[in-house]
Amino acid sequence: MKAFRFVAWQKPAELHEMPVPEPGPEQVLIKVGGAGVCHSDLHILEVPAGTTSMRLPFTLGHENAGWVEKLGTGVSGFAPGDPVIVYGPWGCGLCMNCRLGMENYCQNPGEIKPGGLGADGGMANYMIVPSTRFLIRLGALDPREAAPITDAALTGYHAIKRSLHLLGPGSTAVVIGAGGIGQMAIQILRALSSATIVIAVDTSVDKLEIAKRMGADEGLLSDDAAVKRIKDMTRGQGAQLVLDLVGVNPTLTMAAQVSRVLGHLTIVGLGGGALPVNFLSPAKECSVAAPYWGSIPELMEVVDLAQAGKIKMVVEHFPLERASDAYHLLHDGKIQGRAVITPND
Ligand code: NAD
Ligand code: ZN
Ligand code: ZN
Repeated sequence: MKAFRFVAWQKPAELHEMPVPEPGPEQVLIKVGGAGVCHSDLHILEVPAGTTSMRLPFTLGHENAGWVEKLGTGVSGFAPGDPVIVYGPWGCGLCMNCRLGMENYCQNPGEIKPGGLGADGGMANYMIVPSTRFLIRLGALDPREAAPITDAALTGYHAIKRSLHLLGPGSTAVVIGAGGIGQMAIQILRALSSATIVIAVDTSVDKLEIAKRMGADEGLLSDDAAVKRIKDMTRGQGAQLVLDLVGVNPTLTMAAQVSRVLGHLTIVGLGGGALPVNFLSPAKECSVAAPYWGSIPELMEVVDLAQAGKIKMVVEHFPLERASDAYHLLHDGKIQGRAVITPND
């Protein structure tokens, strides 16, 4: 089979010929339908050696969906041909957080090895999933369309769900960065909360247009005028929830300026900026958090939302041979929603 592999730090990933893996005990072999191209891969492909604990080489693709191909010994509950989505952050399965389904916060250091972020991922014809606890049934959803749900939607969902108690009638949510996660976040805000105003902020006019189609009331270019406009729209108070899906210094500064007393400033983007936090800023009792991905039960909820037609990603498909182009286009801001690699098309 072919696999798009991350082989050396600060080098572009490469297409390689690999044997189709054989599922061991407890494991499941998945025929990949779609593998989403997440911006996190761009960050990881650019960092110097030693920045993360990941070992190279591995196959990229941590937003995966497909069909069960073959079950390892001892596996039951699934049958070949079942359409499934793959939960990404594979933890130890034994610690308290893992047993609660929060494998994204596995308590055993170094145990989280997501397929596509340390272990072999879905940008290949087939991938191994270590346990059925990472498989959620897709029902009628097409794996080629659904793949980004497992990260772009789940990450936004988890980041929003923890703030839902703040998002009652009359409240405001600001989403900075209306790309893959941002577009999902806007739809999730609309589906879950009664927030009166949802504001999208981006550097791209095209993304702001899409954000409005997805349910944003206002789309603002990312500059000082946006800060003033958000303040005006919230009667000087700022927003209950500010989601920073970029995480560079200018967006963090903006997030601090537009979040309100007792609000939530939530940093999801890995842009590498830093947010000064002291007595004066952000606003009094505004909580700052940096969530990572989401839990297995939350992924089940997100799949339910997608099955109900309440969230939908704008997906652009690329064959495995064009995976490199997809990353370049994402880097240049030319992917409208999510690029999805379809290795078996
Ligand atoms: P994306 O490339 O699809 O979208 C990013 C968007 O941000 C684009 O629309 C871009 O135009 C916009 N943008 C860039 N600079 C901006 C600025 N200064 N102000 C406003 N908007 C700006 O990326 P994505 O896949 O949605 O990922 C977003 C971020 O979230 C990335 O940093 C990624 O690594 C991170 N991420 C974090 C988690 C987590 O668990 N915390 C999970 C997945 C992705
Ligand atoms: Zn990701
Ligand atoms: Zn664990």
